[in-house]
Amino acid sequence: MPIHITGNTQLTALLGHPVEHSKSPFMHNTAFKRLGLPYAYLAFDIEPHQLKDAVEALKTFNAAGFNLTMPLKQSIIPFLDELSPEASLTGAVNTVKIQEGKLIGYNTDGRGYIMSLEERGFRAKDKTIVLAGSGGAARSVALSLMLEGCQHLILLNRSLSSTHEIAEMLHLAAPLSKVDVDTLSQDHLAAALEKADLLINATPLGMGDLTDQSIVEDATMLKPPLLVSDLIYHPAKTKLLKQAKKRKCDTVNGLGMLLWQAALAFKIWTGNDMPTDHVKKHL
Ligand code: NAP
Repeated sequence: MPIHITGNTQLTALLGHPVEHSKSPFMHNTAFKRLGLPYAYLAFDIEPHQLKDAVEALKTFNAAGFNLTMPLKQSIIPFLDELSPEASLTGAVNTVKIQEGKLIGYNTDGRGYIMSLEERGFRAKDKTIVLAGSGGAARSVALSLMLEGCQHLILLNRSLSSTHEIAEMLHLAAPLSKVDVDTLSQDHLAAALEKADLLINATPLGMGDLTDQSIVEDATMLKPPLLVSDLIYHPAKTKLLKQAKKRKCDTVNGLGMLLWQAALAFKIWTGNDMPTDHVKKHL
């Protein structure tokens, strides 16, 4: 899939460590090619001590912008001139636009997740939502759910310090929001799911070495019309999503979040809508 590179092609990039398995170069280059836009996207393996030099290089090369993945989403912030409200509240940046030498930081992860739900006809407004996990992804997702008008968010995590931090952030962003915090036990999960519209897994249970695990032990707590969502996209069907399907609940995996966070970054850099159907077909 070679893209047509000329003297006017502008660089966009991913910085992080590791980056070799990232799907971002494929998604963005497929979209640039489809729309005939003069951009190219490369992934650079950058560790935190190399970040300053990498940012200077991208400015010198007049890059249009770049994405950040682990472990650079927080460490990029001191290098930026401006932050979007989402980036400022979450304290994490996954997209930077370079505009006349100024660096503007955004966080498109949470909004990308919301768009993946909306694509499936689910709106967070006035809903009761259970979010398991309190890491970086959960933080962005929780903020966007609240900004969308989620009525009641129940945060469950195995340790509570990061969960309390998320709850504090949510009260700053949406002072009237109802947020409950508890440990991720089977009893707490079952009780929370009694009144929930959506369950989200934002832990790594279900991927890598934890592929055979799920946040849910007794699947009878999953009952339609509950929507069950996993932020994991590899594997596409986690153990949790298989449990939910067996119980006849609708499911959403993390591929939509991956696609829509990229589509939002694409729009920030190019001003164009990513041809998401075309990208999805080839992803
Ligand atoms: P993270 O910052 O490392 O947070 C991991 C969270 O999972 C923490 O709350 C942690 O609890 C919890 N956790 C870890 N191991 C656990 C276990 N064995 N049992 C129970 N809880 C456990 O990770 P992240 O960046 O937020 O990513 C979370 C998930 O989202 C990952 O599966 C990742 O692949 C996925 N993700 C998907 C996308 C997408 O585009 N679809 C984007 C980002 C992330 P403690 O606080 O107690 O440590």
